[in-house]
Formats: sequence, C-alpha cells, structure tokens
Amino acid sequence: MTDVTTRYVTVLGTLAEVGPRQYAEVEYPYVCSCGEQYREVEYAATCRKCRTYSLGGRCLYVTDERTGEVVWGRMPTQDEVAEYEAADREEREEWLNELAYLKGEGERYERLEAERREAEAKAERELLEDILYLTQDELSGVRPRC
Ligand SMILES: [Zn+2]
Repeated sequence: MTDVTTRYVTVLGTLAEVGPRQYAEVEYPYVCSCGEQYREVEYAATCRKCRTYSLGGRCLYVTDERTGEVVWGRMPTQDEVAEYEAADREEREEWLNELAYLKGEGERYERLEAERREAEAKAERELLEDILYLTQDELSGVRPRC
C-alpha cells in the first residue's frame, strides 16, 4: 500500500541517497526542446512552454537526459534552424513595428486628450465669467438684455 506519507518518505529516502541535482535528473529525465524537464515522454512532447521558447513554436524533440538520446521527434536540420530563425526575426520585426505604431497612437491620444482638457477648462472659465457678469448686473439693478 502506498499512501501519501509512504510516497513522501520514499522520495526523501531517494533524495538522501542520490542528492538533489541527481534526483531531479532521475525524477524528470525527459527534456523537451525548450529545456523543460518531465517525467513522461508524452508530456515533454506536448510542452506548452515550447510554443514560446522553442524554435518553430512547438516541441521538436525530447531527449532522455540519462542517455543523451532523442526519444521522441528529431533534431532540426541546419536548414530548418535557419528557417525557424528567419521566421522568428520576421515576427520580432512585425512586433517592433506594431509596438512603434501603438506608441505613436498613445502619443496622439495623449495630445488629443490634453487639447480636450484645455478646451474644457477654457469653456468652464468662460461660463464662470458669464455668471460673474450676470451676478454683477443683477446686483447693480441692470436688467438682462435677453
Ligand atoms: Zn518545452
């Protein structure tokens, strides 16, 4: 029977025998193409981090760290690496263009917002001035013309 306590004691026993670094290698021997370590090949092969950190946006291969062999997929060829890197550069360039556009839009928005605030403040000053003149006229006994 293996309950949680037994499993924990077993893990601690194994850890004490082989040391923390070696234990991690034994416990998570399968390394996907982005470098994440897994217990099972199928989990390594479907690594989500590979979408961001691996060439081509997907896991290309899984190696067994104990033997150094590829156990799933295959290593990319030089041409594939060059192709993935070119696509990556292109995507990065598009991203930088988008960023520059959004920055320009942000500056344009700030400028329009400042103009709107200025116009609003001017309208408020003029309204206050009108109220003051009307109050002055009323206190002086002048009848409004309209
Ligand atoms: Zn990965």
